[in-house]
Order: sequence, then C-alpha cells, then structure tokens
Amino acid sequence: MQKNTYPSGILQYIPFFYVIWSDDLLTVSEINVVQKALEADESITTENQKTLISWLDTANPPANSELKNWKRTIAKTGVKLVESDTYPLATFSQKIVCKYYTECPFNDQLKHIEVNLGIQPNHYSHLFDVEVDYQSSLNYYKASEIDTILKGKHADLIDRFRSDLDHSIFKWDIHRNKEDFREVVLDQVKGLADKGYGATAYPATYGGAENMEGYAYMFENMMYVDGSLTIKFGVQFGLFGGSIQKLGTKKHHDKYLGEAGTASLLGCFAMTETGHGSNVRGIKTTATYNRATDTIVLHTPGKNDNKAYIGNALHSKMASVFAQLIVDGKNEGVHAILVPLRNEKHDLLPGIKVEDNGYKLGLNGVDNGKIWFDQVSVPRENLLNKYGDIKEDGTYHSEIKNPNKRFFTMLGTLVGGRICVARAGLGGAKFALAVAIKHALKRRQFNDSIKIQEDLLMDYSTHQLRLTPLVANAYVYHVALDKIMETYCDQSQPDKREVETQVAGLKSIITWYANSTIQECREACGGKGYLLENRIADLKGDVDIFTTFEGDNTVLLLLAAKGVLSDFKSEFNSAGFLAVLKILGIQISNKLTTINPVYSNKVDKDHLYNPKFHKHAFDYRTRRLTYTLAMRIREYIKKGMPSYQAFLKVQTHLVALGKAYSCELAYNFYCDFVDTIPDEKNRLLFQKLGTLHALHAIREDAEWYLEQGYIGGTKSKAIRQRVERLCTELRPHIKVLVDGFGIPEHCMSAPIAG
Ligand SMILES: Cc1cc2nc3c(=O)[nH]c(=O)nc-3n(C[C@H](O)[C@H](O)[C@H](O)COP(=O)(O)OP(=O)(O)OC[C@H]3O[C@@H](n4cnc5c(N)ncnc54)[C@H](O)[C@@H]3O)c2cc1C
Repeated sequence: MQKNTYPSGILQYIPFFYVIWSDDLLTVSEINVVQKALEADESITTENQKTLISWLDTANPPANSELKNWKRTIAKTGVKLVESDTYPLATFSQKIVCKYYTECPFNDQLKHIEVNLGIQPNHYSHLFDVEVDYQSSLNYYKASEIDTILKGKHADLIDRFRSDLDHSIFKWDIHRNKEDFREVVLDQVKGLADKGYGATAYPATYGGAENMEGYAYMFENMMYVDGSLTIKFGVQFGLFGGSIQKLGTKKHHDKYLGEAGTASLLGCFAMTETGHGSNVRGIKTTATYNRATDTIVLHTPGKNDNKAYIGNALHSKMASVFAQLIVDGKNEGVHAILVPLRNEKHDLLPGIKVEDNGYKLGLNGVDNGKIWFDQVSVPRENLLNKYGDIKEDGTYHSEIKNPNKRFFTMLGTLVGGRICVARAGLGGAKFALAVAIKHALKRRQFNDSIKIQEDLLMDYSTHQLRLTPLVANAYVYHVALDKIMETYCDQSQPDKREVETQVAGLKSIITWYANSTIQECREACGGKGYLLENRIADLKGDVDIFTTFEGDNTVLLLLAAKGVLSDFKSEFNSAGFLAVLKILGIQISNKLTTINPVYSNKVDKDHLYNPKFHKHAFDYRTRRLTYTLAMRIREYIKKGMPSYQAFLKVQTHLVALGKAYSCELAYNFYCDFVDTIPDEKNRLLFQKLGTLHALHAIREDAEWYLEQGYIGGTKSKAIRQRVERLCTELRPHIKVLVDGFGIPEHCMSAPIAG
C-alpha cells in the first residue's frame, strides 16, 4: 500500500480535477456538472465535499503547486490508463485509489461526470505521466452502416459498380507515357460500357436506366480507380452522349444514343476555343446554313478560334461542336451540331485538323486535343435541334424567342455534368483522406521521455484539427450533392434557374475543398504522400483542373451570386432587375435585426452545438452580403454607371456572396437529411459531423463575423475550442468514418493505407 496525503474520498476525484484545471478543457457550465455530482455523492464526507467544491472556484483556482502534487500522486501509482475501458477516467481513478487504500469501490458519480462531460482519453491521456494503453480506433460505429446511409437509394447500383471494378483492367498503375495510358483508359471506358454503365442516365430504349442520380454517384467511385477514367467516361457518356440526349431530338437519339452508350461510337464535346473559354457566347466557330445544298458548313475563322482542350479528340469518330449558327445571314446564337471527324479507318475527314494538346499537369490518360474546321459540310439533320431548328424550307425556328434565354436554356441542360465533376472532386478528397488517415493510424513519430512507444500521428491534436473537419465536410458535401442532383432531376420543377445557380455554387466550393483537402492529405503523409504509389500525387494533378473546367469556379460564383441577387426570377440586366434589387433590399433590411450582445457572446455548449445557431449564422451572412451588395449596385446605377460596370466594381463582394450562399445551402441540405436517419446512434454521429463542419466554417470566416459584431471575441475563442474538442471526440471513430466512405479494398492500392 502506498502513501499519499489525500483521503480516498478526495483522491478518487483528483484525476478529474487535474483534467479540469490543467488543460482549461471545461467551461463554467460543465464545471457545474461536477459540482452537482459532488453534492449527490453520498460516499464522501461533508468535509471532503467542501474541499472538492472549493477547488471548483474559477475565481480562485487551485494553486499550481497543488496541481503538481495531484500529478505526482497519480504518476507514483504506476497505474496504466486503458483507453478501451468503458469509463476510462472513472476506472483509472478507481485503480489509483486501489493503490493507496484497501477499499476502492467504483464511484457512479465519477462515471456520471465522465459521461455528461463527454471527455475522452485523447483529451487528457497526455496530461498524466502514466503509460497509456492506446487503441488506434474504436468500433462502436459500423463502417458498413455508414456506407449504407450514404449510398441511400443507389445502394444496388453502387454495390454492383464497385464489385465490377474488381477486375484486372481497373488495377491502378503508374503510367508515364501518355499514349500507353490513353489506351489503358480507353479499355476501361469500354469495359464499363460493356457492362451497361455508360448508358445509365439514358432512357431504357437506348440501353439505359434513366438514372442520372446513380450515374453521378458512380463518378465518386471511378475516382477510386483513376481520375483519367472518370473524366474520359464523363466526356464520352455525359458530354458527348448527354449533348445528343439533351439537345437533340428523337432522330438523333435513334441514330446515335445507343451507340454512344456502348462506346461503339466514340465522341467528343467541342465547346471551348483557344480564344474563348468561360465566355461561351463569344465563341467564333461558325456553322452557316447553305440552302442550296441543304447543309451546314462548319468553319474555324481565325488563329485562336480552334476548339481547344477537347477530351477524347484523338479517339473520337464524331464531335458535338458548338458554333454560331448563321441562317439566312442572321446569327441565331450558339448551337450544337454533330460533326463526323474520322472515317472507319480512323483517318481524319477532309477539312478537319486535330492536334494533341500534349502532356498536362494531370489526367494524362485523357486525349485532349485541338480541332480546326475548314469549310466542313454536314447535313442539316446534324443540328441538335431541341431548342432551335432549321426547317425544311430553310428558315430558322425556335420556341424560345429570346436568344439570351435560348442560350441559357441550352447550357442549363448540361448542368448535370457540373454535378458529376463536383462528385468526382469529392471522390478524390475522400480517397486522399482515407489514405492520410489510415497512414496516421499506423505511423508513429516522437514520444516523451517516459514512453517506450512513439505516438501515432493521429493522436496529435494538430493532425486531428487538420484532417477531421475535412472528413466532416466530405459528409456534408456528399449529402448536398445527392440532394442537388435529386432536385435537378425532378421533372415536376420545370424552372431550373434556381437549381442551376445552386449547382454553380456547390460545384465551386466542393472542387476547391477537394483541392485543399488533397494538399492537406499530401502534407499529412509527409514524404510518403509525395510518392506516386500512394496515389495522392496523381489526385493532386487530376483534381486540380476541376476548379476551372465545367465552368471556372470564380465565374460560376459570380453567376450564383447574380442568381441570389435577382432572386432567381428576373433576368439579370433586364428592366425588372433593378426593381428586384429594391424589393430585395427592403425585404432583407427588415429582417437584418441588430445582434444582441448577449447572443454574440453566448458560449454555452448547447447553443454552440445547436444547428439553429449555425443556420442563423449562415443565413445572417448570406442576407447581410446580399443586402450590402444590392445597396452598392443600386447606388452605382443611380449615379448613372452602366450596370455592367457596376457589377465589375462589386466582383469580390459577389464572390463572397456566392460562397456564403453555397455554404448555407450545403448545410441546410445536410441538416434536413440527418433528421431522416432512422437510428439514433448514427443520427447523433452525423449530427456531430454537421456541428463540426458548421463551427469550422464559421471559424474559418471568423474575421467577417467579428467585423460585423455577429460574434464577440469570447465566442470566437469558444468556437475555436469547440472545433478542437470535437476533433478529439471524433478521434476514436476516425477510421470508421473514412471506412464509411465505402472505398472498395480492391481500389485502395496505396501501400501506406494497407
Ligand atoms: C484537361 C481539360 C479538359 C477539358 N475538356 C474540355 C472538353 O472536353 N470540351 C470543352 O469544350 N472544353 C474543355 N476544356 C476547357 C475548359 O472548359 C475551359 O478551360 C474552361 O471553360 C475555362 O476556360 P479558359 O481556360 O479559357 O479560361 P478563361 O475563361 O480564360 O479564364 C481564365 C481566368 O480568368 C478568370 N475570369 C474569366 N472571366 C472572368 C470574369 N468575367 N470575371 C472574373 N474573372 C474571370 C477565371 O476565373 C480564370 O481564373 C477542358 C480544359 C482542360 C484543361
């Protein structure tokens, strides 16, 4: 029996008090939990109770010498802290008492404190100079259950798809020669087409299942094989086939859609030109109708007017070419026309020139190229004529009279591709997170003098803070993309302007998130992350371009913000637009109440963890930015500035609004979804992830919230502490959380993740 200066009634509480005071871990409200437990503890004397309660006085905390004495008393026992105990701290305390006294019953009040405060071994294990029996992860949650929740209604398709990826042609390898790599990727695309996946989004008549939502989900999973496969698949079936499906009519579907879906007709989507990328309306390629021959003549007029970066350009037999349609000398705006590029022997047809774009930062398994047209004639029927047609008498006809509206309607039909790119970005981020976290659960670096074993990377709070919010974000964005695709596919909502705005915003924030996440994961793996074999390097190169293709993120956010400003109704720049700005300004200013100082410094856990607070914070930011923007633009316009110039002046403000709106949207989608999770255990886990995501997002924009007085310094600090706290609370479950992404073992080729 060892000697100590504390009676057993006090001794049993010492580990708890040491945790409370040595790390500033607990807030005042949580200290109250301890006080109540002490008052209810019948096993201690009144005198001991008084001493213990006096140690809870925040105005007069225990002296440092007392803390040192507590620590010495604990360390002297040589008791081991076992993380896997059901109540590790209460059990640890009990074992300490057993070292000094013969009587050492388990104290339920200690258990009560531990449970109610939610403190976990990784919060305090580093504090005591004792040996810790670490567990790299807990299996309280089940990865398979989480995966099932995420797959939702797509489970059958995704399970089948994942198991079909278990084939030698999908085995990841290092490819340094682009020609060889392209052949591998082409085989993979054909392999998927053979199994019917290419046509997933097409109608059953053309071999499909009309399942655009499931089609998008596959993009995440293809990223687990390779980025080039994902993009080549998207070009063939989504862009080329999708343009025929969405912009063409039955004659085009009957003739081409089936073959596009089986990849027996390889095609490309030729929209961008060297001189015109984001500004599609300004492209220069012409498609001039020749009434005498009843043909459309495609032509590249100038030096920089060639099609550029076109995916599948070297393998394609046909292109869906976007060009200015000229009928009877009148430019009817941008339309898509199917143009054969090569014959059966794969020779280029007369008037067509194609050049390889060469090596790129990533996606070298995709054959991107430049295309020129020199007076190339195609039959009139090749015009994809759903929204604008050349009739038999040679006149142009469209149901949509306004050319602006026609243009946006045509482009709007292709918005599904944007969701797929975001989905692919998310898949890349999930893969990188899985690699980095599995590595961090095995890799050890550094220890202190008393430990034999070095610490796991994942047990460093810096590592937890770097990676855990990114895992939480992956969950939120997964749900947001599911929801936006469901809305986009909802045929009962014909007006797609709002959903298009939302897609623009979500695509931007999610592809940026994917890039920063992959970079963080690279660094988190140290040198191993830089090796090609561990896959993160390729992901970095491949996912990078997701920020500028399928719509450049900055340009898309400007678009999203304009949608918010015009309330998704009146057309931007139209006469009604100023009126909308005015109404919007009035509506919002009525709702932008001054923030009460009590609210801006409210720091209790219940408030900070409440989704109502997060939603209010996000809503406030969107409203405030919308209001101030509307006011600024109106002021400029009232002074006589043309609206184009006025919008240029507020571009950075527009981007901030686009981001704020998208962030709010993603979180609202997520909260709605979490409410539908039937079992409580997983619902609470998803809620916690949502809380971490939201607090982290507020934290990241704390500067703005502080500027606005929405949060005070105390609250800002409390949010930071809560973010760190949530990261450590999720630490025991981190492996299950990345396993819950459902990345198949046969795709997880990175040796460090094995
Ligand atoms: C690997 C790869 C594959 C591709 N595949 C295809 C394909 O298959 N088919 C196809 O048609 N195209 C394809 N593209 C082209 C792609 O869609 C374009 O690169 C994209 O639209 C951006 O155009 P841009 O490169 O001309 O950039 P730009 O439009 O010149 O933009 C350059 C920069 O200027 C900024 N900027 C532009 N306008 C504004 C503005 N109004 N306000 C503020 N900032 C602005 C942008 O934010 C961006 O940072 C591909 C590109 C690549 C690299």
